[in-house]
Amino acid sequence: MYLIKEVFRRVRESIPMREAARICGVEANRAGMALCPFHDDHNPSLRLYDDHYYCFGCHAHGDAVDLAAFVTGLRPGLAAKFLAREAGIDTGDSQGAASRRPEAQRKEPGTTK
Ligand SMILES: [Zn+2]
Repeated sequence: MYLIKEVFRRVRESIPMREAARICGVEANRAGMALCPFHDDHNPSLRLYDDHYYCFGCHAHGDAVDLAAFVTGLRPGLAAKFLAREAGIDTGDSQGAASRRPEAQRKEPGTTK
C-alpha cells in the first residue's frame, strides 16, 4: 500500500480534471463548463481546467481530489483512492482488501469512535 501522498500524486498526475469530474458525475460541456456542485447552479459556471476547477458563480476552486471529496463526502485521502479506483489506477490496495469500505458508509447514527 502506497503512502497517501503517493496516491494523491498519482491521481493528480494521471487523472485529467475533466475525467475526474466525470467520475464524480459532473459533466462538462464542450466549452469545459459544468454545473457547479458547490452551489445551486442552473447555468454551467464551473470551469474545468486541465488540473483544477474554478466556479465563476461561487468561486469554489480546487483540484480533482477536492472535487471528489466534496461530491462523495469522503475525506481527501479516501476520495483520492476513489478516483484512482474509478480511473483504474493502481494505488497499492489490491481488489481483495476487505477493509476498504469508504469511511462515509461506515458511519452509523450513534456510533462514534
Ligand atoms: Zn459554484
